[in-house]
Amino acid sequence: MVMKMPELIDGRLTVLRTSDDCILSKGFGLEDLKSSDENRVIEISPCASERGKVMGEIDLSGENRPFLDMETLCLLLSSYKGHFANLKCSTDLGVALFMWKARRIYIYEKGKFKIRFAHSREDAERVLDSLGRLILGSVLCEKCNQPSWECVLGECGICLPEKPEVVDLKSGFNAQLLSSGIKSFSGALEKLQELKARSLSEKWPVRLDRSLKRKLEEAVESGMNFALEARSFEDLKSGVTLIGVARENLLMLDFERKLVKHKKSEIPERLEGLLDKFHRAVWGVEESVVGRLFGIGRTSSEEGDAENSAPMDILSEIMSFKDQFFEEMDNDMLKSFERRVRKVSRCNRLLKNTGGLES
Ligand SMILES: [Zn+2]
Repeated sequence: MVMKMPELIDGRLTVLRTSDDCILSKGFGLEDLKSSDENRVIEISPCASERGKVMGEIDLSGENRPFLDMETLCLLLSSYKGHFANLKCSTDLGVALFMWKARRIYIYEKGKFKIRFAHSREDAERVLDSLGRLILGSVLCEKCNQPSWECVLGECGICLPEKPEVVDLKSGFNAQLLSSGIKSFSGALEKLQELKARSLSEKWPVRLDRSLKRKLEEAVESGMNFALEARSFEDLKSGVTLIGVARENLLMLDFERKLVKHKKSEIPERLEGLLDKFHRAVWGVEESVVGRLFGIGRTSSEEGDAENSAPMDILSEIMSFKDQFFEEMDNDMLKSFERRVRKVSRCNRLLKNTGGLES
């Protein structure tokens, strides 16, 4: 097999159009606070500990349900930690806090945001606007209850218009930021191809895993930088798309690592073959999604397409060996693994049918 190294063709990106009532089309209330309706008002109070500074607070929580996907939020913030100080993010407690440009920020799972040490109301509003852009990918969609990054990839199954279509964002764009985002992805794609070429019967490649993870986190950071500068929702969505694909790959990597970890050391040849087939198929799909969104990597989409239909079938065959050859695999973990495979296959199909970029 000849490995084609990904190369940057130009700064192009495809984004799936989302339906008008999707959170990714209408925003969620931190942007454009000045013109907002009255239940989106930010409360301002003086900071007790620092004279002249104020605290801005806004509560976007609706019913008694989470507003943010904490795992995505913590991934976003930790990928961006070079820009923050004293970052703490706890999925268990449902809160994140950090210093950003000398303001102390609190973000709560339920949808409350607090900015301490802001200079003024306007300053607090500006910071909230930026925060909203940075964390949009972690906001839960009201319709499908998935983090919005899944909606922008068409993975939530609800947020796309009846006839899915793509928007090619080549023109009128912040090309430099975009191309640096895509460059991070080219790096990740190289590692991804390396991973795909390995057999799961070998020892799990810890170093490769780590460097792929780092590249993907870099891609998340690029997506956030991009979102911060976005001038329109379409632009903002492409930031979320970058983040989403990186997150997608990170989750798949997590699952595969667990699968290998729980595999017993002696397994039948048949299962060995199935695992490798699954491994190649699933990364083939991921690769093809990246290729279609960014126009990088694969030069021919034939290979991925042939494999695309396969991963779900192979996975269910693998699962028939579950009790015998895997140790204490948690059913919830398996279910979410299956869901993830189904989702990314769906995303790939969508992009294929709507004619995403092909290199
Ligand atoms: Zn959705």
